[in-house]
Amino acid sequence: MFYNKINDCLSYEDVLLEPQYSDITSRKEVSLQSSLSNHAFELPVISSPMDTVTETSMASAMGRCGGLGIIHRYCSVDKQAKMVRQVENGIRAGAIGVTGDYHERALALVAMGAEVLCIDVAHGHHILMKNALTQLKETFGSTVHLMAGNVATLEGINDLALWGADSVRCNIGGGSICSTRIQTGHGLPGLHTIFECAKTEHDVAIIADGGIRTSGDAVKALAAGADFVMLGSMLAGTIETPGQVIHTVSGKSRKVYRGMASKDAQMDWRGRSSSNEGVSTTVPIMGPVSSKMEDIKNGIKSGLSYSGARSIRELQAKAKFIRQTSAGATESSTHIFLK
Ligand code: IMP
Repeated sequence: MFYNKINDCLSYEDVLLEPQYSDITSRKEVSLQSSLSNHAFELPVISSPMDTVTETSMASAMGRCGGLGIIHRYCSVDKQAKMVRQVENGIRAGAIGVTGDYHERALALVAMGAEVLCIDVAHGHHILMKNALTQLKETFGSTVHLMAGNVATLEGINDLALWGADSVRCNIGGGSICSTRIQTGHGLPGLHTIFECAKTEHDVAIIADGGIRTSGDAVKALAAGADFVMLGSMLAGTIETPGQVIHTVSGKSRKVYRGMASKDAQMDWRGRSSSNEGVSTTVPIMGPVSSKMEDIKNGIKSGLSYSGARSIRELQAKAKFIRQTSAGATESSTHIFLK
């Protein structure tokens, strides 16, 4: 037990990036290109494989915006394979688990054109992940990009890379709809996880997943070492997400957004629920995902410009993080609304 080794671990709101001299005169000079193996993306943004976030329409729209959408795995193999096939995008991606039909699912998705498989489990630093990665690497070699996770530590990302992962989703318990830390007492603040995982010497892409609420948080994640951010709640109310529109008495329309380990989601996809580590809620309807992605893109590009950086790598080299106090955090919010 490490009782005398308790360290401060920082999250997004604890820090700011110090503005630096910039000779960037237009956001057009800033490139947000990032890659997964040999697949290049214009925007380092991935929509989460959740059943209220990414099905065909969302994945196609994310592709058009320059990012990636990963089709969730909470349905039959046939249904998921069909959704993957219908994605109108060069690069198609689908999620699988680590038990049951995961290998059959992987084969079916790849047969439908998936070039990225996301091995999607809550606690990825696990022997079942090791077994699945080993088997999938044997089956596909380097023809398919294997994204794995989630992990919270440097040891976790290093092990997954050794077992065959090409990219790793980093952060445990930080998602907006997540109750893992409440339920289990485990997890690490999201930004701390990125700082730690960025120390890896393996050739593995880092996906900052969960807890990213603003383009400013995305800039902090990229500056800390992430290659991509994965978003759930920031995209959840867009037109392209699956799920019915709920018309409320106030006249404002909403959509369901739920954790995949919430009771509701578990009941829907496997008919029973155990260890509920997520919640279900509704979010206001936004416009099309292209508008939201445009906002996110402009925010991130401005962020790079404030650090005088023309690329994500340059941002990572130049970024100067400072820690802010709670008074600083209040000042950093649009505090007129607090009056
Ligand atoms: P958000 O962007 O903060 O809404 O977080 C989305 C992320 O939360 C997903 O990409 C998953 O990593 C994670 N997640 C999804 N469902 C659950 C759940 O039920 N419990 C815990 N984490 C979840």
